[in-house]
Amino acid sequence: MGTSEKNICQSCGMPMINMTDFGTDRDGNINTDYCHYCYQEGEFTDKGISLEEKMARNIKIAVKLGMTKATASKLARNTLPKLRRWRKSKKAQQVFK
Ligand SMILES: [Zn+2]
Repeated sequence: MGTSEKNICQSCGMPMINMTDFGTDRDGNINTDYCHYCYQEGEFTDKGISLEEKMARNIKIAVKLGMTKATASKLARNTLPKLRRWRKSKKAQQVFK
């Protein structure tokens, strides 16, 4: 790994390493802001989801991958509200202050 900047999905925080990890724009080009789980063909796959719902979903996945629930929720709470997709939402930030 020679790059200092890590590519993480600005929606779910997943590290994106391979080209196939990235999402796609409507014209089929790679979108480097979001992963392919969150963003495909120019749209969020989970459009309309709230930050809370997204965190709950992330926690579930992390627990499935072997993380404890406490660690997973701490990670989600520390990461997701700072990501570009969620930063605009003032309401969400108030909840997790
Ligand atoms: Zn993502």
